[in-house]
Amino acid sequence: MTKRENKETTRVGYVNKNKQVNLGRTKPPRAGSDHGQYVYVIRCMKCRKNYGANGSDIFERKCPYHQGGKLGLKLLASEIHKTIYYYGSRPANNYDYRCFVKYIAPVLPKNDKVFFHNNSLEWRNNRNEIPIELFRNICHWKSPRRFDEVLNNTSDHVNLRWHDALLLLQETTFENNGVTGALNALTQLRGVEVRMASALLTAWNPDEFGIMDFKVLNVLGMPETYSAEDYMALRNKLLELKNTQPELNNCTLRQIELALWYYYSIQDAGTRTRSDNE
Ligand SMILES: [Zn+2]
Repeated sequence: MTKRENKETTRVGYVNKNKQVNLGRTKPPRAGSDHGQYVYVIRCMKCRKNYGANGSDIFERKCPYHQGGKLGLKLLASEIHKTIYYYGSRPANNYDYRCFVKYIAPVLPKNDKVFFHNNSLEWRNNRNEIPIELFRNICHWKSPRRFDEVLNNTSDHVNLRWHDALLLLQETTFENNGVTGALNALTQLRGVEVRMASALLTAWNPDEFGIMDFKVLNVLGMPETYSAEDYMALRNKLLELKNTQPELNNCTLRQIELALWYYYSIQDAGTRTRSDNE
């Protein structure tokens, strides 16, 4: 008998437990290797390579390039571009970043590896200081280019500004002027601008903060400017998504921001990933 294609897993934007994202049925549709199946374009979210899969296999696919998954079905370069372009850059059937984000954000990690200090998140409970190694790791992760400048900050300076920043952020309410004040305190450190400060606050509290990045601003159609006020506009947009989409109610702002960041690459892929193709 014919294996049935599952509606959920054949949907554009579906991500399986191995972080393989479904970019959609090939354009034009093509029969797969199993009876009654179509070929789908699957992208590994970790190494960003594309491969083809039968619809019925999507839920369990592993990346053939780095997870030891079975070889993907062959895709033609033109198919990949047409498919990604069709679903990504030109919304079809009202498919846009909201559709993608509400599906993908709940399965993304709440904490990045770089948020941990000595394999623990305990440091978040100490509002008076941030470990200097952690501070440097986060800054380097966000922007390696500015790292030389960041290294000029002593541990005492960093703690002073961290303490100032967290005084402005009370547990229960994150008022707009509290957040801008905290960002302004952190940006007094050398090499730390608002985007980097947003990464520090997100590492501390991913429920309440997301990271400011041009990809996310681009997806949201916001200007690529990076003042503390611009950050507030971004944060309010993330909150709005969280509060208006039931699927996102239990997500952290970081998960929503990260999903938008991924969407940028998918939307952008139509013109930029020619080298991915087999
Ligand atoms: Zn991979």
